[in-house]
Amino acid sequence: MTRALHETAHIHRLPHTPAGPLRCLTIDVEDYFHIEAAHGTITPQQWDDWPSRVERNVDALLSLLAHFGRRATFFVLGDVARRHPHLARHIALAGHEIASHGTNHQRLHRLTPATFCADLLTSQHLLEDQTGRCVLGYRAPTFSLVPQTAWALDTLIHAGFQYDSSIFPVRHPLYGVPAAPCRPYYASSRPAGPRILEVPPLVWEPLPGSKLPVAGGGYFRLLPLWFMQRGLCQAAARNHPAVLYFHPWEFDPDMPRLPLRLTARWRTYTGLRTAASRLQRILRQPARWSPIADVLDELRAAAAEHPPYSLAA
Ligand SMILES: [Zn+2]
Repeated sequence: MTRALHETAHIHRLPHTPAGPLRCLTIDVEDYFHIEAAHGTITPQQWDDWPSRVERNVDALLSLLAHFGRRATFFVLGDVARRHPHLARHIALAGHEIASHGTNHQRLHRLTPATFCADLLTSQHLLEDQTGRCVLGYRAPTFSLVPQTAWALDTLIHAGFQYDSSIFPVRHPLYGVPAAPCRPYYASSRPAGPRILEVPPLVWEPLPGSKLPVAGGGYFRLLPLWFMQRGLCQAAARNHPAVLYFHPWEFDPDMPRLPLRLTARWRTYTGLRTAASRLQRILRQPARWSPIADVLDELRAAAAEHPPYSLAA
């Protein structure tokens, strides 16, 4: 009897795998001073002058994810891995996927194929050494994988990456490929070139052809939550996975303020106090939450149903 009760209790503690729409939560692990809005104001040489907040912010996110029993993909910046050599392993041991966000958080427009390759491999080797696991995925800083930087896809393929999540199918002054698909697909730098699985962030199409970025970041903090909710519902209705993205600093209202221009200050520091409660409202929703690496076969099969998309097309 005692044993039966024990077994029942054990069964109740087992994580259940709910059915429902596939959602991939992703976290771009960088510190508050790495952000693109600070480019030109704070140089990488000045990063040391700012107190790091990333470990405590990641810990807060890990607690939140554990509370809801959700596992995620963490795109960790190599610079963070270098400064905090135990952080990636700590995240991985909590059950999450570790992927790469590059090393120095420079938009790909500022890199050459050679300097991008060095930036990519540095992060890959650091993260693999620290976790003892293969890094399969990549996300470019500020979604800067666009037609002008399409060569980066060939570097990713050459380095053995299994997927990319950097091509945002929206129109934006700094990034975006509005014509790119809103579901998983095979991407190449040129027609008939080598391909890599692309897993794009969530957009909402209120009208055919009008794509709104609702996957996270500033849009998550600045727009009413129902924008993201509409995007999630549409993705579920279309049977597309919903890829969301957040940054640890977005849940830290007490971080030091950088000397940013007015619009950048507004974009960066609005909505920080409510971000955690908003994320909780999303996380508690029943869905098939999964790290990207765990559903690669499913994503590959979905991508194979459509012709590949060339950024040079
Ligand atoms: Zn970033």
